[in-house]
Amino acid sequence: MKVIKTIKEMKEWSSSVRQAGKTIAFVPTMGFFHEGHLSLMREGRRRGDLLIVSLFVNPTQFSPNEDFKNYPRDFERDRKMTEEVGVDILFAPEVIEMYPPDHQTSVRVEKVTQNLCGKSRPIHFQGVTTVVMMLFEIVMPHVAIFGEKDYQQLVTVQQMVRDLHMGVEVVGMPTVREADGLAMSSRNTYLLPEERKAARSLHQSLQRAKELLQKGERNADRIIHEVREILQSESLVRIDYAQICDANTLQDVDRIERDVVVALAAFLGKTRLIDNLIYRIF
Ligand code: AMP
Repeated sequence: MKVIKTIKEMKEWSSSVRQAGKTIAFVPTMGFFHEGHLSLMREGRRRGDLLIVSLFVNPTQFSPNEDFKNYPRDFERDRKMTEEVGVDILFAPEVIEMYPPDHQTSVRVEKVTQNLCGKSRPIHFQGVTTVVMMLFEIVMPHVAIFGEKDYQQLVTVQQMVRDLHMGVEVVGMPTVREADGLAMSSRNTYLLPEERKAARSLHQSLQRAKELLQKGERNADRIIHEVREILQSESLVRIDYAQICDANTLQDVDRIERDVVVALAAFLGKTRLIDNLIYRIF
């Protein structure tokens, strides 16, 4: 596996590979890898002749009061893990090269970014789409793999790619979980032991929502009421939001008549975790 640090070298590599007629699969990440990341890489391995993983903690998707500085980083550990999965290139650019002092362009997707995380993290998705656009320009992938754990991010990137006619296939992969159901996340490392225990309630509440949906409950308020009750039974959990949205538009629904996502965000101490359940009607 080769580590590439500069945009110029990455572009040259991708251009020559494309000219040789090979397909490039791409997994963008912020590092501190866990099984969730590795599952995307394995899918990328399957889908492309060559697999590029980017490791870039993107400052523009964090608000000033968020955890950009403290975000967990361990380049050596990540490098070894990517090597073991069979990644061809680990692209790890510096912030100063991605965002030189005169950088002034961003990409904003409108409707699908307004609800859910967009409410409590107003600049977040603009940072995400801007960096993903830049990474797509640099890496030139045919296919890019994202996790359904960050469902609003996946939908937003798919919208951007459609709107800007970018010609990259964007694939979503199921959420990988710990044995007790907690969605894997680099941020789980922040949790104190008591918070880690209480965090199980996120998945438990979504399992209850799934049960109700499978029994035929179609009233969103009734489902959300039960979801909130389970979350509130843990005193360490502070709910940011718990909502049921149309799985494509991410607008709230009152009745479940199409594919939906039951999405939630909650604080455990200072750590904000998200999780969701995608429920397909047919
Ligand atoms: P991150 O490094 O947190 O920005 O995540 C990089 C990619 O991994 C994103 O597409 C995430 O949605 C995906 N991802 C993060 N956690 C998981 C998980 N538990 N299961 C599957 N994919 C995940």
